[in-house]
Amino acid sequence: MKKPEIDWIIHCCRNSVVCDECCDVENGFVENACNAHTHGMDRYNHPDFQLVLALPDEEICRILSTFGLWVQQGRRFSSGELVSGIYEDCDVKLETFIETGRKLFRVVIPDKNNVFPDDGNCMYPYTLQTVPTDLLWSKDCVLS
Ligand SMILES: [Zn+2]
Repeated sequence: MKKPEIDWIIHCCRNSVVCDECCDVENGFVENACNAHTHGMDRYNHPDFQLVLALPDEEICRILSTFGLWVQQGRRFSSGELVSGIYEDCDVKLETFIETGRKLFRVVIPDKNNVFPDDGNCMYPYTLQTVPTDLLWSKDCVLS
């Protein structure tokens, strides 16, 4: 079988990473938050994906790439959908958020008790996943 061609990119904007836009070292995110997202799902007439929990880079890429491959293979997702197959022991949820002016699906991960952040008993930092993208900074990114 032909190896799938990765025709999307993943931006992982997080603290201590040099920002593509402004070439400054990013350090403005709220602790445990980041703005990792794909570009290129529009090729498949599908919203891009975002992750805002500051997981290790490899884990962020694994999750976002899994969604990318699924879309490439023809799967279509909708807002509010629970999706299995990312983690063995829990589902993740897709929620619509805005990232630099475009609508995308944020991949929302439940805490270790399998509680999603829209439930009041969810643990920090998982609760950060309800925060709009542009409020995940403790100060604004220095876009020149
Ligand atoms: Zn980007």
